[in-house]
Amino acid sequence: MHVLVTGGAGYIGSHTVLQLLQDGHEVTILDNFSNSSPEAVRRVNALSSSKAKLLKVDLLDEELLKETLTTVKPDAVIHFAGLKSVGESVSQPLKYYRNNVTGTLNLLDAMDSAQCHTLVFSSSATVYGESTALPLLERTPRSATNPYGRTKLHIEEMLEELGASDARWSIANLRYFNPVGAHESGAIGEDPQGIPNNLMPYVAQVAIGRRDKVGVFGGDYSTPDGTGVRDYIHVEDLAAGHLAALEYLKDSSGVHVWNLGTGTGASVLEVIEAFRRVSGQPVPYEIVERRPGDVAESYANPEKARLELGWKAERGLEQMVEDMWRWQEQNPRGFESGDLLELSDDELAEHLKPYLVTRKEDGPRGDID
Ligand code: NAD
Ligand code: UDP
Repeated sequence: MHVLVTGGAGYIGSHTVLQLLQDGHEVTILDNFSNSSPEAVRRVNALSSSKAKLLKVDLLDEELLKETLTTVKPDAVIHFAGLKSVGESVSQPLKYYRNNVTGTLNLLDAMDSAQCHTLVFSSSATVYGESTALPLLERTPRSATNPYGRTKLHIEEMLEELGASDARWSIANLRYFNPVGAHESGAIGEDPQGIPNNLMPYVAQVAIGRRDKVGVFGGDYSTPDGTGVRDYIHVEDLAAGHLAALEYLKDSSGVHVWNLGTGTGASVLEVIEAFRRVSGQPVPYEIVERRPGDVAESYANPEKARLELGWKAERGLEQMVEDMWRWQEQNPRGFESGDLLELSDDELAEHLKPYLVTRKEDGPRGDID
């Protein structure tokens, strides 16, 4: 299948592109690099025997987008492109509505022009708002507590209405819980700009010595150790969920929704402790005020995805932290730092050879050499 991946240079996108290549798909990435670097795609291509094509396109450039889709003629689109910072969405709501909602609208129009009606969309557990009905089920009522969350909610609703209006569309809304971890090679991973908002990248930066200590947002929640509990999911498991959804959509029209989580929560202190163990570094922390809008606990019921997609998260907290730490150590300042950046394409491919993935029909890993 030829899959167009918007936001494919980003964190979740780059890991998914690698799995798509491994699965034998042809991949075209479309990204404006507003929160990513072409270096991520260079590394994905070095990790794979078949290569993804990379196009610099902004979803807000309606004309170029339409032209691109009619030229590429994808069989399906996985749509990661979007802005994702909750705090920034509160201070700049219109930027979020424009980029996420209008960007998606433009994409849907362009897909229709290109006669492509299969879409996998990056939604989020944020659409469950402040629900305390745990574990969270796909039918749990939705709400939003900030503009970022509302863009996801609006897009889900827009897609539902689109699917109901025209039976040619096959759409998956994937609600991610808390994506963390990195590819086992340490060559790709999450590269947050500025001060990380999310717990895991923040803790990783404390462990590597870039920041002094972790501020733990609240120590008096009604959870076993008083700190917030979240359903962390390894990005490789998450990426695999996209391939499973694509497979499902092949012979199923309409709009479908799946939670992608592990079903188990970990507390802030458990995450800090796991980092301390894995890295062997001190991870100082201090309990500070609760962060407004945070719920005590959030975790998925992932049964629907298991039953319908045959998908299940396989990796536990220890592996998430180990992989994240490897990425952090090898790239202390993300894609703009570290030894790999200095390597030519050939040297990079040679360096990453032990991790080379080959297309399924090429035979088992490593066979093509
Ligand atoms: P990311 O920022 O690493 O990747 C998003 C990519 O989209 C970036 O490469 C960025 O440059 C690109 N992009 C943004 N706006 C664009 C535009 N107008 N045109 C073209 N490209 C554009 O983020 P991620 O963590 O990989 O998240 C991917 C998707 O998953 C996002 O939609 C995000 O909201 C959603 N999501 C992420 C999380 C998370 O915690 N990482 C959780 C739930 C949902
Ligand atoms: N958290 C924290 N310190 C930080 C960042 C996050 O204590 O610097 C807590 C936060 O209150 C929540 C958990 O860590 O309980 C996960 O937060 P994150 O922002 O990563 O995910 P989200 O809250 O969006 O699920």
